[in-house]
Amino acid sequence: MFMHNKRLMYTVRVSETNPKLASLMLEQFGGPQGELAAAMRYFTQGIAEEDAGRKDLLIDIATEELSHLEVIGTIVAMLTKGAKGKLAEGAEEAAEALTGMTAGGESHTLNLLYGGGPALINSGGAPWTAGYVDSIGDPTCDLRSNIAAEARAKIVYERLINITTDPGIKDALGFLMTREIAHQKSFEKALYSIENNFPAGKLPGMPEFADKYYNMSQGDGDMRGPWNQGDQWEYVDGRDEQAAVDGGDGGASVKLDRIESKAVTQLAERTMSMPDGDPTTGADLGAGPGAGKTKDVGKPAKRSVKK
Ligand code: MN
Ligand code: MN
Repeated sequence: MFMHNKRLMYTVRVSETNPKLASLMLEQFGGPQGELAAAMRYFTQGIAEEDAGRKDLLIDIATEELSHLEVIGTIVAMLTKGAKGKLAEGAEEAAEALTGMTAGGESHTLNLLYGGGPALINSGGAPWTAGYVDSIGDPTCDLRSNIAAEARAKIVYERLINITTDPGIKDALGFLMTREIAHQKSFEKALYSIENNFPAGKLPGMPEFADKYYNMSQGDGDMRGPWNQGDQWEYVDGRDEQAAVDGGDGGASVKLDRIESKAVTQLAERTMSMPDGDPTTGADLGAGPGAGKTKDVGKPAKRSVKK
């Protein structure tokens, strides 16, 4: 169950109307790294979680993210409150109202279409989607994804702080950003509290391939570092050792039944190319200056121009 407390998790003090800034704040309301995406990610993971500790952690953080959603949504509402009032009451000259709302970003959409209330869109106007939630139902995968999501949310808040001069908004964003740091720490601990957390799942990798580094892109700029050198790694840059690594011929085969096999043969024969022919094409017929070498067919004789 959910219970609502009328006090916000962090006090929102906005110094003045600013629809343009409001539309940028929507990034953390209805955007991919935003609070609704975070809440839904952890809420759905928590419902299905088997481990009592992780279940509690996920539902605690999901509920906190909803409280963040309320804070960032309230910032949007405060930034547009004055504009909303004036727009609803027609209290401004049209030209003045137009300038105020089209000063940048999606503020005109936010104000006209959503009446200044926080809309579940990102700062570019794209609607929120469950596609932002990338859970897969394995705790080591989902915790790693959650760690990355918290890191991204932290960065978006940092960028929003850097474009904000309003001290009250900076303060509230600083709180929200800091909480994403705290969440990342919890998720990291939860991941490493699973003794065997790497690789994900139950099946082991094939030992002959787990320690190989394939230098597939070769040339100036090849670099060695701990990611491909040292005891852990066998560095493979021979081209022959990079292909058909199973020791087979590197071809592809499949067993077909009689009907499939006959149909595929017919298909191949019907669409067979003729390497000996040199058919005339539309490019030959229509060739003009700059076409490069083509057949000289069907071209009208050059008219001689008398001077
Ligand atoms: Mn949050
Ligand atoms: Mn978070």
